[in-house]
Amino acid sequence: MRTIIEPFRIKSVEPLHHTTVEQRERYLEQAGYNLFGIDARHILIDLLTDSGTSAMSTEQWAGIMRGDESYAGGESFFRLKRAADELTGFRHMIPTHQGRAAERILFAVMCKPGNAVPSNTHFDTTRANIEFTGARAVDLPIPEAADTQARLDFKGNMDTAALEALIAREGAQNVPLAMLTVTNNSGGGQPVSMANIEAVKRVCARHGVPLYLDACRFAENAWFIHEREAGYADWTPKRIAQKMFSLADGCTFSAKKDAFANIGGFLSTNDDRISHEQTNLLILTEGFPTYGGLAGRDLEAIAVGLEEVLDPDYLRYRIVSTGYLGRHIADRGVPIVEPPGGHAIYIDAARMLPHIPREQFPAQALAVELYRHAGIRSVEIGTLMFGAAARHELLRLAIPRRVYTQSHIDYVVEAILEVNAAKERIRGLEIVEAPPFLRHFSARLRRVQ
Ligand SMILES: *Cc1c(COP(=O)(O)O)cnc(C)c1O
Repeated sequence: MRTIIEPFRIKSVEPLHHTTVEQRERYLEQAGYNLFGIDARHILIDLLTDSGTSAMSTEQWAGIMRGDESYAGGESFFRLKRAADELTGFRHMIPTHQGRAAERILFAVMCKPGNAVPSNTHFDTTRANIEFTGARAVDLPIPEAADTQARLDFKGNMDTAALEALIAREGAQNVPLAMLTVTNNSGGGQPVSMANIEAVKRVCARHGVPLYLDACRFAENAWFIHEREAGYADWTPKRIAQKMFSLADGCTFSAKKDAFANIGGFLSTNDDRISHEQTNLLILTEGFPTYGGLAGRDLEAIAVGLEEVLDPDYLRYRIVSTGYLGRHIADRGVPIVEPPGGHAIYIDAARMLPHIPREQFPAQALAVELYRHAGIRSVEIGTLMFGAAARHELLRLAIPRRVYTQSHIDYVVEAILEVNAAKERIRGLEIVEAPPFLRHFSARLRRVQ
């Protein structure tokens, strides 16, 4: 059979509510043309993020009931530790309330002012937590990643020559760690090859620089390796993931992505001294090391999710269904970041709407129009988010895990194609008021007259 189906059936449902175009016009006006300001109940299909929005399985909900809420030494912690140990092989693991808490602790322990921390591409919270310590976050993607239309199998890779040059320039003593984000979220959800992880590891090892994975989407990355990299077609996703982790010295992890949990994360390392310092910081800000700012029931959900996400049927469906959205709009003329990534499709709004200059936020204008037309929420990743530093004007359609069916996605495809057919009518936006930091969350805008 060629048809790929959702590898689950639905036991509990959450009704969706339609709204009219007139109502949505009003909500947009009230929200200052900022989709973060729209109530979720007024959204039909919410593709704002894949973070914390997964549907949990029956086994995860059963785990929620099993959760051991003991302050210290709870069984749920040991269940999570066994799952994480088997997968990652790292000597130490501490739970945290989400990924950025793991980042804050890791960088507080490892970074000093003036240090440089290279990555294929840092995620925004990762960058912010590095810079908070006075260190610099340096992105070293392969040069081809700058071209949204280049179709590479592993467009999330790091430029290893640039890594060598950075270490030579800064001195290895000023590079406390290197990171690889798998998949490369800010780089379009593109995967990193095993060969690239190995090459980065070789450079790091030669200079005594530890390598950490930002492992939020480790399973999606493992599936791409299974599908695309020579030598791995016969490996299970689990074995591939284990090899990825074995090449690193530690990881940060947000369980809100590839663990199907609504909250949670962890920090792992092989370094005893760092683990000791991290544990002290954890107690200061997150909680006792056997719960790390989470309820015992959350630890259970993560433990179960870490195993479920490596099911080949799930991963095939996941990657194929994201690609389905991408191909159906791209093959009918909507420019996307090629090739489709693992967790999201990114529309290149600058290419799609050449009549809207960057100062008038073409990707935000597209997000607003997609909501107005069909009640779909997406997110701008461009000049509204990053200001003058924005490299592209992208509209991200992130796909929550196990939440929407193919007919939901068909609706999204139809809506985007209709918006594309009448795109000349879309007008740019201008800012009415905006805060000095992270303005995309709360800025108010209006249509350019
Ligand atoms: C989401 C994410 C984080 C941060 O995790 P939170 O749980 O949202 O704090 C870090 N890195 C990457 C690549 C992410 O996608």
